[in-house]
Amino acid sequence: MKAIIPDEKGPFQSLLIFGPPGSGKGTLGKFLSSAGNHYHLSSGDIFRGLSPESSAGKIFHTYAGEGKLVPDEVTIEIWRHYVGGLIATNAYFPHDQFLLLDGLPRTVQQTKLLESYTEVMHIIVLEMPNVEGLIGRLKRRAIIERRQDDFDEKILHKRMQIYQDETVKVLSQYPKELISNFNADQAPLEVLRDVLATLSSLLSLRSGGSS
Ligand code: ADP
Repeated sequence: MKAIIPDEKGPFQSLLIFGPPGSGKGTLGKFLSSAGNHYHLSSGDIFRGLSPESSAGKIFHTYAGEGKLVPDEVTIEIWRHYVGGLIATNAYFPHDQFLLLDGLPRTVQQTKLLESYTEVMHIIVLEMPNVEGLIGRLKRRAIIERRQDDFDEKILHKRMQIYQDETVKVLSQYPKELISNFNADQAPLEVLRDVLATLSSLLSLRSGGSS
């Protein structure tokens, strides 16, 4: 049985990881989750884990195959069910761990739909204005991770454009004090170093796991 979310203890304390495709959101999320026992949740990973035969999986493949975003209501519904499952199976402990949200919200509408579930503690923005550098990273990832949506350059440019047109607007929904920008055009460990230099006290507030 899935847990009802949010529960009586209120919304999940979350850190949002923003950045264009290829900026290293997933890599940073994994580092931070293992460094502090926070729960890293990538919307792209949730979608890629759906069975291609399921109705949600079919919707995902239709949109992602064209480089488009999955519709907002469907995205949040899938996310909500997924998080309910994580809580019910003791994979994520919402009141002991920060939720590191990678790739969500990506539109203003998703921000509103998520409002009652999440309390945003901070927003990490990975900046990499060099689009050709991002495309190069994604093409390497396509080979290493066999990601179909990373192969076609036209689709990659479309995803970059959607990030600029839709996702950047999300940042204006939050107070400036919650937002920190980082140079993502450097090695993963250097990005991690910069993030920890700014956020280690916040990240250390929750590091206990399942106690
Ligand atoms: P990237 O950050 O490299 O674009 P992701 O793995 O986060 O890649 O996402 C892959 C695809 O999954 C997106 O192109 C989109 O189709 C879908 N997707 C992921 N997150 C969302 C979201 N929050 N809203 C709508 N679609 C999403």
